[in-house]
Amino acid sequence: MTTKDTVAGTVAPRALVGALAAYEVEIPRAAVDLSNNTSAFGVAPAVLDVIRSARAEHLVSYPSAYSGTLREAIAAHVGVEARAVMVGCGSDDVLDCTFRTFAGDGRSAAILDPTFVMARIFALTNGLHPIPVPLRADRDVDADAVLATRASVTYLCSPNNPTANSLSRDAVARIVARASGVVMIDEAYAEYGGESWASRAPELGNVVVLRTFSKAFGLAGLRVGYGVASPALIAELEKVRGPYKVTSIGEQAALAALSDDGLAWMRDAVARTRELRDRFLESLQKAGLAPLSSVTNFVLVPVPDAVRAARTLGEHGIGVRALPRLRGIGDALRISVGVWPHLERVVAVLAGMA
Ligand code: PMP
Repeated sequence: MTTKDTVAGTVAPRALVGALAAYEVEIPRAAVDLSNNTSAFGVAPAVLDVIRSARAEHLVSYPSAYSGTLREAIAAHVGVEARAVMVGCGSDDVLDCTFRTFAGDGRSAAILDPTFVMARIFALTNGLHPIPVPLRADRDVDADAVLATRASVTYLCSPNNPTANSLSRDAVARIVARASGVVMIDEAYAEYGGESWASRAPELGNVVVLRTFSKAFGLAGLRVGYGVASPALIAELEKVRGPYKVTSIGEQAALAALSDDGLAWMRDAVARTRELRDRFLESLQKAGLAPLSSVTNFVLVPVPDAVRAARTLGEHGIGVRALPRLRGIGDALRISVGVWPHLERVVAVLAGMA
């Protein structure tokens, strides 16, 4: 892609269509959805109680403009002050508005390759020129290659979607210490494993850590995510994000998810997910496949033809994400960790195709 593909402040049609096509590659409609890395165990009972007890006044009134109560609860959970937290309509919203805040004429965004495909899409829709930075063969980030881009915004994802590994602390620290612009660290899967930068983000100044209630907490349908950064940076991002991005019910549900009961439920669900993931990895290996190690709630499995494999799994009632021609990996399937009967079916179908 050339810089002609982006025009500051406008959508770049050709590049954007390509990026969206990559995102939408064939997810067969299937009874069992293992394509989005959402919770296999539903949500905490404390969250369901909030939804069930919703009354008209919760719907009629506007929520608080900047979700002060939820920010305080998140701040206590992460171990930072409330001014260092902002919330959004999913962490996507925080990602999007961080790009928007630092977009401008001729500016670029350094984005790992492969990584969460929405990062490239949000860079393009905000008029930033995306510069892909290939992961190293060991799936870690190449810090020098990131720094060489001199990008206005760097997007790191740790644990990384879709490669399922954490980026090394040393490489991330090197980028944070020397980057010319702002560094986003997307920790959507941090509850499952890997090291979090969230509590350190406020003192670092140039770092925004993205977290979400969509995965381990099971609230993807309610769209609640958050960012942690220095209070000065959060103030800039909030100006761009605007008010009223989290609904009243979303805020109440997220508060319940962070209650003692909610957190105990989440930790138990994460422990069960990890056990299932490790059992799934072992079964895939026994079936002759070579899944990549994972610290997340999904597994990346290289296959000869991703679209064909996803289609076949779809015919067996299971939806997974086909990722054709991933850089450094080739065709692969990204499969969320579900309950065992579903994972067992995946192994049987893939073994049958080998
Ligand atoms: N970041 C990563 C790495 C993701 O995988 C996802 C969801 N697929 C998101 C962010 C978006 O999460 P949210 O639902 O909070 O917008």
